[in-house]
Amino acid sequence: MKEKIAVYPGSFDPITNGHLDIIQRGLTLFDKVIVTVAVNPSKNALFTIEERLEMIRESVKGISNIEIDTFEGLLIDYAAKRKACAILRGLRAMSDFEFEFQMAMMNRRLSRDIQTVFLMTGFRWFFISSSAIKEVAHFGGKIEGMVPEIVCEKLKEKFKSIKPAKCRP
Ligand code: ADP
Repeated sequence: MKEKIAVYPGSFDPITNGHLDIIQRGLTLFDKVIVTVAVNPSKNALFTIEERLEMIRESVKGISNIEIDTFEGLLIDYAAKRKACAILRGLRAMSDFEFEFQMAMMNRRLSRDIQTVFLMTGFRWFFISSSAIKEVAHFGGKIEGMVPEIVCEKLKEKFKSIKPAKCRP
């Protein structure tokens, strides 16, 4: 039988436990998940693509049937090239829905051969986003337990030289 492959695209700036949860649950539905980092120069990222890939690589060590890659351009073309039958996305709050729905509809318009599959976030990761993690880390807050260990280290390193902004007296 044909191998069922899903691509899981995102910025992963950086990868969080919420992303990992989607990857692991995705693997119960698909034979292989390709985690693919979007190369989007217009997005203001904290980490370089190489740094993001390294953190993903380290975080999924020991999990089989995962491939890590990058893509540029149309996701649907990338998914077709990788022979994927699905695009995997995670859903948290209603605020995710509008954007995700629009993107899924557009991708469906572009190709009927590839389905978008949404997984609801695990309850523990509902409030976790890469941007919230970056903000907390920037101000020296505790991020342990919300991101893989390697991400904790890299965030601390990144922000070591940047002093948090002081509140006005
Ligand atoms: P993008 O810029 O494409 O939104 P992200 O890295 O922020 O990239 O997210 C990639 C995917 O992972 C999206 O589908 C997003 O909804 C999902 N995701 C992000 N954080 C979580 C989380 N805590 N729980 C479940 N899904 C998540």
